[in-house]
Amino acid sequence: MDFAPTARVKEHEERLLDFMDTFVYPNEAVYEQQIEASGNPHFHPPIMEELKAEARRRGLWNLFHPHSEWGPGLTNVEYAPLAEITGRSPIAPEATNCSAPDTGNMEVLTMFGTAEQQETWLRPLLEGRIRSAFAMTEPDVASSDATNIALSIERKGDEYVLNGRKWWITNAMHPNCRILIVMGKTDPDAPKHRQQSQVLVPLDTPGVTIKRALPVFGYLDHEGHVELEFDNVHVPASNLIAGEGDGFMISQARLGPGRIHHCMRTIGAAERALELLCKRALSRTTFGQRVADRSNIQDWIAESRIDLEMTRLLCLKAAWLMDTVGNKGARVEISAIKVAAPGVALRIIDRAIQVHGGGGVSQDFPLASLWAHLRTLRLVDGPDEVHKMTIARRELRQYDTKPGPEAPSARNESPPTSGG
Ligand SMILES: Cc1cc2nc3c(=O)[nH]c(=O)nc-3n(C[C@H](O)[C@H](O)[C@H](O)COP(=O)(O)OP(=O)(O)OC[C@H]3O[C@@H](n4cnc5c(N)ncnc54)[C@H](O)[C@@H]3O)c2cc1C
Repeated sequence: MDFAPTARVKEHEERLLDFMDTFVYPNEAVYEQQIEASGNPHFHPPIMEELKAEARRRGLWNLFHPHSEWGPGLTNVEYAPLAEITGRSPIAPEATNCSAPDTGNMEVLTMFGTAEQQETWLRPLLEGRIRSAFAMTEPDVASSDATNIALSIERKGDEYVLNGRKWWITNAMHPNCRILIVMGKTDPDAPKHRQQSQVLVPLDTPGVTIKRALPVFGYLDHEGHVELEFDNVHVPASNLIAGEGDGFMISQARLGPGRIHHCMRTIGAAERALELLCKRALSRTTFGQRVADRSNIQDWIAESRIDLEMTRLLCLKAAWLMDTVGNKGARVEISAIKVAAPGVALRIIDRAIQVHGGGGVSQDFPLASLWAHLRTLRLVDGPDEVHKMTIARRELRQYDTKPGPEAPSARNESPPTSGG
């Protein structure tokens, strides 16, 4: 395994760090102020378009995309340190056109889209002109097992007709969101993993209704996480992605990269929390000593550094496996980092909150909102427990001499679960 940054990573890193210092961090407050001044939590602040233009001008655009036609064409190992840097700020991923769920949707359309689908939806997404959402999770079924997904997609002549409900659909309140990739059932009688398909549904199609935006621990995110109703929604049959019954296969393809990108950014967010912790501990004095001089605080700092280094290495190992043996061969390591990264980040943010005292849980520092949002990552793209099941099954398989119907080797080892 070679994790040494290549020349093109070093070069991108330098440019990205400069972009973060010069444009991103100084404009975080401007971004929030513009939204607040509009009175609409889902308002798209003009500063974001300025940041996007600047990122594009600097060649810091579509960094995630493995195809060099659309971006720098980096491997997963190469992208990891750059994604980590963008993860330090909540506004950097959108500024560089690298935010979920657009990245996953762009990869799906790159891999499986027809020429017409690519021209209509992929191109504007890659150019940052529109945004998109991915609709899998449903309120009425346990969606961490995606075989439960029940929204009906029925073929009628030259069209598909959709009926059902989804929730937690990220990005659908973004004013630029135009297109949904919707997973549902085309054939309830087919084998379990061939019942589902994915179709493109423009957000303004008659019958698609946004019922409400769901807050996260009381935070109404700018991009929104919505409940959606599909009531006799008609789309052309040509909106099907790949073939009927390919829904699971497409989900498998998108979720590997989507999950590890979340983890890379999470490590960056945890690094920022540790930086804030250290600076605060150095600046406050109690009982005649700086908070930073207390041994228990130093213990937290050391533990945080150790956890971060271990997590980064695990993330790079998963990325390296994706690059060398493919996403399928890396699935257990992807599950492992998907559990490890949010857990470590939440512990570090919690320590940083504690060191900030009352300020830590206020809006004056980014820590409270960071904690709330990263807490969702223990659910998004598959809950911890489902990923642990994947890891445990591979472990058990080595010793299980009597595999039964529920045995690890007899079942789909890495179930795709819904996610943003
Ligand atoms: C902020 C946010 C954004 C999201 N964005 C999107 C999005 O854009 N698109 C989308 O489709 N979905 C999205 N989701 C949904 C998310 O992916 C699902 O919530 C997640 O997959 C779990 O599904 P569920 O909520 O139906 O939980 P359920 O399936 O009901 O599971 C509930 C709990 O049961 C336990 N459990 C499940 N299976 C096992 C097991 N095998 N062993 C032990 N315990 C188990 C786990 O603790 C799990 O959390 C988002 C969610 C959040 C919170």
